[in-house]
Amino acid sequence: MKKSLICIGCPRGCRLEIEMEGETITVRGNSCPRGESYAKQEMTNPRRVVTAVVHTTSEQLPWLPVKTSAPFPKAAIAPLLNRLYKMTVTPPVHCGDTILEDIDGSGIHVVATESCR
Ligand code: SF4
Repeated sequence: MKKSLICIGCPRGCRLEIEMEGETITVRGNSCPRGESYAKQEMTNPRRVVTAVVHTTSEQLPWLPVKTSAPFPKAAIAPLLNRLYKMTVTPPVHCGDTILEDIDGSGIHVVATESCR
């Protein structure tokens, strides 16, 4: 299987040509090792930082913006969003506070990106 990707590791945006045969992944076009790591992860276990909003009981900020503390497996993002949209947070919440800890044992948390009183 062949695939082309633009590396998002830095503004240079190298065009990566990826070839996958069985478990062997060959990457060309990367200008540094991060491009190879990114390509291999995209082919085997793509991840994204998830941003969302969570309902609060605050009149000042009824929807609190949140994000994952690290890139989260793409295949598990929809269930995570369903879970977040059903949550209600009670203030006070400070920017950086954990809203959801250790999502499904992943070691990744959902944290607030804004404060709310
Ligand atoms: S391969 Fe390296 S230099 Fe090229 S875009 Fe990715 S991080 Fe930047």
